[in-house]
Amino acid sequence: MKKIAIVVPVYNEQDNLREFHKRITEVLDKEPYDYSIVFVNDGSNDNSAVILSELAQEDQRVEAYLLSRNYGHQMALTCGLDHAEGDAVITMDGDLQHPPEVVPQLLRLWEEGNEIVITKRLSTEDAGVFKKVTSAGYYKLINILSKVEITPGGSDFRLMDRIAVDAFKQYRERARFIRGLVSTLGFKVAKVDFVAPPRFAGTSKFNLRKMLHFALDGITAFSNLPLRWAFYIGLVCGLCSLGLLGHVVYVRCFTSDAVPGWATTTVSILFLGGIQLVGIGILGEYIGRIFEEIKHRPLYLVSRHIKK
Ligand code: UDP
Ligand code: MG
Repeated sequence: MKKIAIVVPVYNEQDNLREFHKRITEVLDKEPYDYSIVFVNDGSNDNSAVILSELAQEDQRVEAYLLSRNYGHQMALTCGLDHAEGDAVITMDGDLQHPPEVVPQLLRLWEEGNEIVITKRLSTEDAGVFKKVTSAGYYKLINILSKVEITPGGSDFRLMDRIAVDAFKQYRERARFIRGLVSTLGFKVAKVDFVAPPRFAGTSKFNLRKMLHFALDGITAFSNLPLRWAFYIGLVCGLCSLGLLGHVVYVRCFTSDAVPGWATTTVSILFLGGIQLVGIGILGEYIGRIFEEIKHRPLYLVSRHIKK
């Protein structure tokens, strides 16, 4: 019998875990597969770890990796993908925003020969206007900036065949935007649409800072265009200030009304200074990331593996 693994990153989801376990097992028990559920506890500071070890005691198909601290959603997913066994691996959130009832559709498409089945959120029932607008704008931007195509409303709810998981495991970069990485893998890809219901319990674990960081990771990992922009903007400014120089020389040498002209000076200094800072900022962003990658630190540390 074919075996599938469900990978679930967990960060402070104590009130969702039992419900998630109930709903996913209800769905999978009707499917003709062996399965395991691999929870990755991303350094939760609530009762999640305790509940996970209880679940693992009660149900031998459940196992849990406890990370040594909070590493973030993408690293928790990475840990799960690294350790999950099976002919296919499905990653999904533990807050029931990725409905377990959609899983059979992913499995059907996999059976039809697709090696990756991605999903697209049609809408998120409880997302605010701010999140919707920024998310839509962001996907537009990243698709303009980079060569890989990333589906708007993409999520980390997806199925990967063993062959795709093993390919993915060779990508060891630190700044991870998994949906971008997956779309660079290639393979035969199918897509399923779903509507994300509100969280079952608790609140979103992504604050503005985490979202911004994730967004920047996505852009810098897949595009060098901002670096080039800095260069072009610098070029345009350089040319403008050359023009300005011509004007200054002309006024000084060929007219008698050499106005003090402090306005022009101040404006051009401010303008050039600003542009330079932008350029340096962009450089810094990339250099910082080179530094992070070059250290080759482990992506995450596992403190315990719980399995009956
Ligand atoms: N998550 C995680 N580590 C984090 C933040 C979130 O493992 O640092 C998990 C979280 O428990 C959930 C999933 O990632 O299973 C998605 O997080 P969340 O629902 O908060 O994100 P949203 O749906 O609001 O985008
Ligand atoms: Mg969620």
